[in-house]
Amino acid sequence: MELYHQCCRYARVGDKGEILLGRNVVADAFEKRLIRVVTHAHQDHTRGLSRSTKWSIYVIATPITFEFLKLLGYKIPEDKKLPLSYNNSITIENETITLVRARHIAGSAQVLVESPSYRVGYTGDFKLPGTPPLEDLDTLIIDATYGSPRYQRRWSDWEALSALIALIDERIHKGPVWIYAFNGKIQEIMIELRRRGIDYPFLAEPLAIEMAKVSSREYGVDLGDLRPYLGGEPDESAVIFIHSSKTNGKIRLKGTHIRLTGWEIKSMVRMIRENVFNVSFSDHATFREIIEYVRDAMPKQVIVDGYRGKDAWFTAKYIERRLGIPAIHMPVRRK
Ligand SMILES: [Zn+2]
Repeated sequence: MELYHQCCRYARVGDKGEILLGRNVVADAFEKRLIRVVTHAHQDHTRGLSRSTKWSIYVIATPITFEFLKLLGYKIPEDKKLPLSYNNSITIENETITLVRARHIAGSAQVLVESPSYRVGYTGDFKLPGTPPLEDLDTLIIDATYGSPRYQRRWSDWEALSALIALIDERIHKGPVWIYAFNGKIQEIMIELRRRGIDYPFLAEPLAIEMAKVSSREYGVDLGDLRPYLGGEPDESAVIFIHSSKTNGKIRLKGTHIRLTGWEIKSMVRMIRENVFNVSFSDHATFREIIEYVRDAMPKQVIVDGYRGKDAWFTAKYIERRLGIPAIHMPVRRK
């Protein structure tokens, strides 16, 4: 309990997933603080944003995240928006806030808050490689979506991506290939497929297309033949991207259906039935990558975000025992 009191003055995770940093900053949920940071545009990091927009004096995010938030329907007054590009800082009330790149979805950022007497940081959602560690921290708050070895995938993203491409190539002559994922991941996959020369037509819902245009600019990748999906069964060899929440409504249609999920850990590609597959692909760090991040960052202490992650208690214990860094998970009781 001693660590709990020591660490939590300038960094903690609240009961509703709010990440409290320094004296004035809250990230990724609502709290009455001067500054609200949005690390990226996923829904579990934008909660309470309307309330924050009223209460806080500034909302800080990367320019790309602000573009996504607008497309997703969040109305943030221009005079409250404070876009920060990676590695740029702003000092407010004696605290310097910096956003640092995180590899997750376009625009994702880590948050660093510094004052003369403390230096604390939050990874937000991330995976490795491509997320530089926040170093010399007094306290690191880390995301641990896959917080124990029982969720460890035994293959890399690149292998999973190759398997996805092989499956698309094999199946596309039999009709459309439907890919189900959340926004953010949909756009990452579109970019990765185009980078690897996959030039089949892409169809997607209008919001996904608008978000893809933003990602395309950010990554400098031309998305080629990308058109709106207008419903029904397209009569052509196309890859159709559909939001995960609509899987049930589409999965009986003609073609091959592929669900992208990081929770598939049995195998890289798993056939569920004749034309339905799970492909194990995640936009979060594996357990091993979480530990690797902490080992590289070497903070004085660690708080594992147990609000969004699974088995955060295990991650904290592992970090203490294996790396010798004091660690706890918060909030202790999950809602
Ligand atoms: Zn996310």
